[in-house]
Amino acid sequence: MNQNTTDVAIIGGGIIGCSIAYQLAKKQVNVLVIEKASRVGTEASWAGAGILTSHASTHEPYPELCRASLALYPTLATELKAETEIDIEFIRSGTLSVFFDEAEAAGLIGLAERRINRGFTAEVLTPEQVRQSEPAISKSIAGAVLFPEDGHVKNPKMVTALAKGAANLGTKFLFGNPMTGFVRENDRVIGVIVNSEVIHADKFVIAAGCWSGHLTGLLDLSLSISPVKGQIVLLETIPPIFQRIIDGLGIYIVPRADGKILLGATAEFVGFDKTTSVDGVKQMIDAAVEIAPQLAQSTFVQTWAGLRPYYKRGPCLGYLPGLDNVILASGHYKNGILLAPITGQLIAELITTGKPSLSLAPFELAAV
Ligand SMILES: Cc1cc2nc3c(=O)[nH]c(=O)nc-3n(C[C@H](O)[C@H](O)[C@H](O)COP(=O)(O)OP(=O)(O)OC[C@H]3O[C@@H](n4cnc5c(N)ncnc54)[C@H](O)[C@@H]3O)c2cc1C
Repeated sequence: MNQNTTDVAIIGGGIIGCSIAYQLAKKQVNVLVIEKASRVGTEASWAGAGILTSHASTHEPYPELCRASLALYPTLATELKAETEIDIEFIRSGTLSVFFDEAEAAGLIGLAERRINRGFTAEVLTPEQVRQSEPAISKSIAGAVLFPEDGHVKNPKMVTALAKGAANLGTKFLFGNPMTGFVRENDRVIGVIVNSEVIHADKFVIAAGCWSGHLTGLLDLSLSISPVKGQIVLLETIPPIFQRIIDGLGIYIVPRADGKILLGATAEFVGFDKTTSVDGVKQMIDAAVEIAPQLAQSTFVQTWAGLRPYYKRGPCLGYLPGLDNVILASGHYKNGILLAPITGQLIAELITTGKPSLSLAPFELAAV
């Protein structure tokens, strides 16, 4: 493949762009991933907490998409390990959603019932049952709901593994410069501009996270995908004190395989700002210590922030209106790590057969 001509050009080397590239490469499609940073996965896909939650949404058909993506994880983790030697640390830990009073209990039990009606598993636990499996949790909780199908993954390793897997199968990567324009001939897009050079392709995929709206704007298509800042705090306890993901009091606690504990996350509509704040960090630490008092003795390691791509009815998946060779795959907001495998699969099927195994109609830009 000449670097200036390819079958499919993917703009954005986050987890979504890399997952699509990997699935296309498995179907022997020539792909070029264009990433403005010097390597893949430096933005939201690095910053995210890596939770794979079966209760991401209760509004169909979104849960179907979540369920299908979660189901792909065990095989994908094994496949990536065999092909790239990278362990993405997929762990089906389950989530314990703890509640402290009756109002919180009613909300969570209602959620559990809705999830069960949609084919997921959920179990209400007494405080004693919770403390049997997670002794570090405060004695003052009133109970919890266990979502046993949930898991987590080390997302930075997953992006690297997807990119390496794609590269092993022939995918090329162009790093260090943003894509700045589309080249059109009559009504069709025939190329993109990177560093003043034109790259020609048959199909184009915009997978540029919260910058995707800037790129559709270059095609005179207004799309409001906004950055939503999420701050994370990293702690460490030796030995590890949690088995499961814990959530409650508006935060989550993720025990990583290496003994680190990740607390997250704020959701702030403050534009393209990735600073962390005392206020955000304090909120998360206060809530975490209320859930598990022992965390007050943990070691503070690091804090960071990332920008989630938010679209009010996202994610947006499918061809752009009026353009039969430009696909949008963005707006995954809080669930891009969870949804990366199914997004990769469905967009690859859309490109190669025109018939994705799950209908994308509800997620097309015209529909959402
Ligand atoms: C704090 C936080 C916690 C999260 N927790 C979870 C979680 O627990 N579970 C979960 O499922 N999801 C989680 N998410 C959401 C998830 O991280 C995102 O939905 C996902 O990473 C989006 O992936 P992406 O590839 O669309 O975007 P990004 O990772 O942002 O990738 C987009 C890429 O496009 C590149 N780009 C942009 N413009 C251009 C251009 N013009 N030319 C070339 N390249 C360009 C960028 O440099 C970037 O690398 C979290 C996010 C945050 C911030």
